[in-house]
Amino acid sequence: MEALDVVEGLPERPTVLVVEDNPVERQLIGKILRNFDFEVIAVDCGEVVLDTVVNYQPDLILLDALLPDIDGFEVCLHLRAHPKGVYIPIIMLTGLDDVSSINRAYEVGATDFFTKPINHSLLVHRIRYLLRARVIMDQLRLSKQSLASAQQAARLGHWELDVEKNRFHLSEEVLHLYRVQEDEQDTSDINVLYTKCHPDDVMYFERLLSASIRELKEARIEHRILLDDNSTRYIELHTTVLSDQGDGSNHILGISIDVTERKESEREILRLAYCDRLTGLPNRSLMELYLDQSIPRSHANGSSVAILSIDLDLFNRINNSMGHSAGDAVLQQLTERLGKLVNSTGVSQYLDRLSVSQEPSLDDLGKQMLGRLAADTFVIILSEVDRNGAEAMRFANLVKRTFESPFIYRGQELFVSASVGLAYSESGSSLAETLLQHADLALHEAKTQGRNRVKEYSGELVSKVSTHLSIQSDLRKAIANGEFQLVYQPKVSTKDGSVKGFEALVRWIHPVKGVIPPDQFISVAEETGQIVELGQWVLNTACKQNKQWRDQKLIDVVMAVNVSARQFKEGNLIEVVESALGQSGLPGNKLELEMTEGVLMSDPDSEQVIAELRDRGVSIALDDFGTGYSSLSYITRFPIDTIKIDRCFVQDISITSEKAAVVSAVSNLSHSLSLNVVAEGVETETELDVIKQLHCDEVQGYYFCRPMAAADISEWLINRNSSPKVANKMH
Ligand code: C2E
Ligand code: CA
Ligand code: CA
Repeated sequence: MEALDVVEGLPERPTVLVVEDNPVERQLIGKILRNFDFEVIAVDCGEVVLDTVVNYQPDLILLDALLPDIDGFEVCLHLRAHPKGVYIPIIMLTGLDDVSSINRAYEVGATDFFTKPINHSLLVHRIRYLLRARVIMDQLRLSKQSLASAQQAARLGHWELDVEKNRFHLSEEVLHLYRVQEDEQDTSDINVLYTKCHPDDVMYFERLLSASIRELKEARIEHRILLDDNSTRYIELHTTVLSDQGDGSNHILGISIDVTERKESEREILRLAYCDRLTGLPNRSLMELYLDQSIPRSHANGSSVAILSIDLDLFNRINNSMGHSAGDAVLQQLTERLGKLVNSTGVSQYLDRLSVSQEPSLDDLGKQMLGRLAADTFVIILSEVDRNGAEAMRFANLVKRTFESPFIYRGQELFVSASVGLAYSESGSSLAETLLQHADLALHEAKTQGRNRVKEYSGELVSKVSTHLSIQSDLRKAIANGEFQLVYQPKVSTKDGSVKGFEALVRWIHPVKGVIPPDQFISVAEETGQIVELGQWVLNTACKQNKQWRDQKLIDVVMAVNVSARQFKEGNLIEVVESALGQSGLPGNKLELEMTEGVLMSDPDSEQVIAELRDRGVSIALDDFGTGYSSLSYITRFPIDTIKIDRCFVQDISITSEKAAVVSAVSNLSHSLSLNVVAEGVETETELDVIKQLHCDEVQGYYFCRPMAAADISEWLINRNSSPKVANKMH
């Protein structure tokens, strides 16, 4: 007895279902098969076949074509329609030379046929052959299925191109990936890949893919596909060349992978790297990338790139007094307003292209760009402008105008102004960083000059900044080295010429540079925070000096000391004042603190602090009134004692001038609120005359006395008391 070949996956004793109505034949076949180590189930009619198959799951069926009840072909048809019968090998037994039955057998899905009378040993071989083939077919089918499901899970599909024969075959997964309906496209042509490609990528995709085919080289191409619902997916395509040594044919195997999820996270990373979180605008990195391309391009056609650096004035005031959400609201509204001025296509497309590793093009971004550089600094880039034309300056003024209407936060109107720095790229340099730096310098200058204005960059600003930097480093040592000195300037009554008080003004006696005026270092000390320590020293020294003059019975008046914003906010001003008064022994009512509106506005608690200072007898003067944000409402809102009208109103004043009208209005309102009015910077007799007519109470200025060191003031006071000529200046 010959044993059955061992085939992996085949049972040791395969079961054969014999369907034969002739009992002799049935028994004979059964006997022979059993001899050859088959398990045999035999039935004599068609009716029971399906049930038997379902219950016993035979490995093969021998099916007689002629059965008494249902004919064998019909049985075969039913079997093939049943899931348990689809793949089972069926051998139909037909009459010899019955060609039409043989044809019919194939038609109804039989695997093979065998003619009667049966040659039994041949039948056994046929059965064994078909069983082996079935195992292999099953394995092939399974591996195909698992390949397909693996590809589907990996969102991956493959296609193959026979280069010589131009025969193209793609897998179902590719169709699925590209969402191609089988009837919709000619899927035997490589063009099917191009038709679904995103229109912006198709040229690039076609170029790389056809090069890979033409030159028989591997390629990796990323591209997008545009689906019918207008959504995009990202595909990564790898091509491999398969060369058959035997027949010399070349095939290109393409593997397409859907990498949309990965791309989306990459795009998110790009967005985080290149865009500002709050406003979604380009950040510094993206602006530099843009400038790196736009500067050379502008220069090449004889034009320039202009940069506007826009900074909100006193933005911290909003953040501090109303909270960060108010600040964010202003920034978002501003983004919207500036966005309307700037003609830019936005960054979306640019990032898209960056994320499919194509060279992004300037054209994606347009000729203008709006970006956010820092918390409250925005930048507008204008490419290809004429540096001799007025376009950029006009633009800067448009920007300023967007601040004319108030920003709205929770129904409240917020007025914010902005300073703007303007700079042009210079033909010698195409560095983005330099250009941004120049715009920043111009911006800084606009701020120093009193904010709310546009300034254009010029070379002189650089030397200004280097002085600024050296001042900053020298300042550190100056306090410790005792390089500061106070000078005092008297305030004189317009009624009787008596000295009503002094203002203490600081001087820096620099060991190398000599006397440095406060205009050059106060703002630096303010920026670095050194003003807190310096201000404390000024306060202590001025109080001691005043106490000394009082003790010497030289003069007993109020000493005024200037206070800066930083001292107010960070320097626990009340303690510092108490300590200065305590250490010197000066009574609180002999000290006045001068502060500008900017100082008062910089701190939300300023009203409270002022009230506490006044509780200690210290009086408060509103300094430099008429500059900056001056509004008469400040006079009524804050509990102050004195208004100091800025020098710019006094300079060259005539009684019929507009300046006189303002000074008169301020002094009348102040008097109705019982405030003391001081006019600063009186230099001439004419100015003094007009000021007197406008009812200012006190004057201060070079006309009477320049700020002088303490010793000189003592001398000046003594001379003045003994010389009627000087005292008579007022009469
Ligand atoms: P300010 O508070 O407005 O001080 C008055 C300035 O006007 C002083 O300039 C004074 O010398 C000047 N001045 C007085 N009379 C006349 C005049 O008739 N004509 C002209 N052209 N100028 C006159 P100074 O001393 O250069 O101080 C400038 C600014 O520096 C001050 O302006 C003040 O804001 C600040 N400052 C001075 N000392 C201190 C200080 O100790 N602490 C703080 N925080 N700031 C100070
Ligand atoms: Ca002052
Ligand atoms: Ca002043």
